[in-house]
Amino acid sequence: MSDSGKAGLAAVTILSAFAMGASWSGPAAAGAGAPFAAPWMDATHGPEPEMQVQRYDGNTYVVRQSIATNFEGPFIFLFFGKDRVLQLDTGAGGLRIRPTIDKVIAEWLQANGQKSIQLVVAHTHSHRDHIAGDEEFTGRPDTTVVGHSPEEVAAFFKVHDWPTEIVPFDLGGGRVLDIIPSPGHQPAEISVFDRQTRLLLMGDELYPGRLYIPNADFKAYRATIDRVADFTATRQVTWILGNHIEMTRTPGRDYAMHIHSHPAEHRLELPLASLLELRKAVDAMGELPRLEVHEDFIIYPLP
Ligand SMILES: [Zn+2]
Ligand SMILES: [Zn+2]
Repeated sequence: MSDSGKAGLAAVTILSAFAMGASWSGPAAAGAGAPFAAPWMDATHGPEPEMQVQRYDGNTYVVRQSIATNFEGPFIFLFFGKDRVLQLDTGAGGLRIRPTIDKVIAEWLQANGQKSIQLVVAHTHSHRDHIAGDEEFTGRPDTTVVGHSPEEVAAFFKVHDWPTEIVPFDLGGGRVLDIIPSPGHQPAEISVFDRQTRLLLMGDELYPGRLYIPNADFKAYRATIDRVADFTATRQVTWILGNHIEMTRTPGRDYAMHIHSHPAEHRLELPLASLLELRKAVDAMGELPRLEVHEDFIIYPLP
């Protein structure tokens, strides 16, 4: 938030001890059917690394910033193609993220016998808790950092008709992502569908937590949810991944705001059914959003 499937391959957790040197012994298994090999660290098992990297498959990584470093505990995503790697988001601040990202890229290069790869640092949206580490990538070789306004995002991804046009983004080697303009929670937001893993990233528009929607932008939000849901009508989606976890494992119950540990946390991944449930709910609300508690998320209007 912010005020202002199933993996075909076994996932591997790489605790970024290289970033912290801390030893962490969280629970070892994520549970049957989960797309990630290990549970996400939630600051309830003693000292933990600043970042936790999980390999979804050999070309797809999901990273969590420790809630102990910032209560937002945001997720960061890396999609590798032959020519470029797309990084979505740079964290909420309070730590350095680039050493961990560089390490993942170096390992990927070695595993794939490549000397270099272009890094594109873009954002699910430009709230502070997703862009705070941008400066770390300024001046990094082979790197583009995408701007924060809807105009800059549209220009970079070559969206001519924002927000209704959905465009491909080619990572090379046959890996293509679909970029879906998604204003509502924030004007520069995008959703990203990966044709390879069939993961759908929905940023802060949909995740297991409080879905903050400014009253004034509810129309745009509703149109975005319709746009993304329509897009999925002709596609298989393995999982929807968002940017935060704010729900507990007790249906309908969220954590207090601004707390620095998440005991018994909800899973990150949501099924496509959650998007359809959200669509039905917001479509039924008319002109203004209202607070509505669902089992896996809470629609949370901001006046
Ligand atoms: Zn946000
Ligand atoms: Zn956020």
